[in-house]
Amino acid sequence: MIIGVLKEIKANENRVCMTPSGVEMLHQSGHQVLVEQGAGEASGFSDADYAAEGAEIVATAGEVYARGEMVMHVKEPQPSEYQLIRSGQIVFTYFHFAADEQLTRAMIEREAVCIAYETIEGPRGGLPLLTPMSEVAGRMAAQQAAKYVERAQGGRGILLGGVPGVQPATVLVLGGGVVGTHAAQMACGLGAKVYLLDTNLDRLRHLSEIMPKNCIPLMSSPATIRELAPRADVVIGAVLVHGAKAPKLITRATLKTMKKGAVLVDVAIDQGGCFETSHPTTHQEPTFVVDGILHYCVANMPGAVPLTSTLALTNATLTYAGVIADKGWQTAARDDAGIRSGLNIVNGKVVYPGVAEAFGMEL
Ligand code: NAD
Repeated sequence: MIIGVLKEIKANENRVCMTPSGVEMLHQSGHQVLVEQGAGEASGFSDADYAAEGAEIVATAGEVYARGEMVMHVKEPQPSEYQLIRSGQIVFTYFHFAADEQLTRAMIEREAVCIAYETIEGPRGGLPLLTPMSEVAGRMAAQQAAKYVERAQGGRGILLGGVPGVQPATVLVLGGGVVGTHAAQMACGLGAKVYLLDTNLDRLRHLSEIMPKNCIPLMSSPATIRELAPRADVVIGAVLVHGAKAPKLITRATLKTMKKGAVLVDVAIDQGGCFETSHPTTHQEPTFVVDGILHYCVANMPGAVPLTSTLALTNATLTYAGVIADKGWQTAARDDAGIRSGLNIVNGKVVYPGVAEAFGMEL
């Protein structure tokens, strides 16, 4: 198969969807890999690194789309790319369709075969291509919260861990999945008092066994959130309802009860956000203020740490890319339930229930 590796064009997205080592492995399996010029630069890989492993370096995204049977990205195709996508072409990347109707309609219109990283399920459940980026975003969420809660950044001016004799900050984490657990671990490591909320009781049991003593796992409910929000110096939004928009857990009314200068980090912004007042931001302008509360809502947080993120992502995607390339998408999807669950739009039709529901479309 001819596989195209595209350069990311979303603002401040510095990852790349394949490393030279990935190219080497696909090349050895008999595939031809086209790499757009400069695709790996921001992740520390030169064109020469890719060429040395057998890639053909091509000058433009247009050429990658024109020749690639499967094209790969990290983030969803941008509007400038829609017209380049060909009918029947496999596009393998993060899409997050349920939060983006324009993208969904464009991919239907282009009749692409859209295999979404974020809905591929692992053999034991879970979302193996979301996990590594969730690990990065979760850890980074605590780091960003620690920074923005500083006075010079517009925050309350509190040290997450306090010091001996002084109370630490209170951190409320909504969602105890991958993002939430990693965020809570980092915040706990810095010494904060952390409430970690989830709706899944089995998950809460597990968390109470593995998390440190300064983490309190609690059942999530509107009442608990209303009770804890006014005490929080930091709230980290990390919920996920698979394939659907995030529920709005902090309403505008609850926001008004919070301390001025508190920080909200809405990691779930790529699914629409779990705070009523959230809207997506970029690494260039990551924050905005509503009712005196700082909001950090960067939709592609791992893009800020490409050296870590690219390796973490490609560790997980390469095997799937290899299977799709070896077998073709139909056979790969027939043989592998995980790849089947990645199919979101096929030849002009939405095939993933969460996306169809989000826009009232028929399956
Ligand atoms: P996950 O499935 O591992 O965890 C989500 C958790 O939310 C689950 O444990 C679930 O039980 C819980 N949950 C659902 N409804 C809840 C509610 N009402 N209250 C409390 N908990 C609730 O998902 P994840 O990998 O941790 O991802 C979380 C979010 O972060 C997703 O929206 C994901 O797309 C997003 N994400 C964003 C970035 C970014 O750069 N902004 C990067 C990675 C992941």
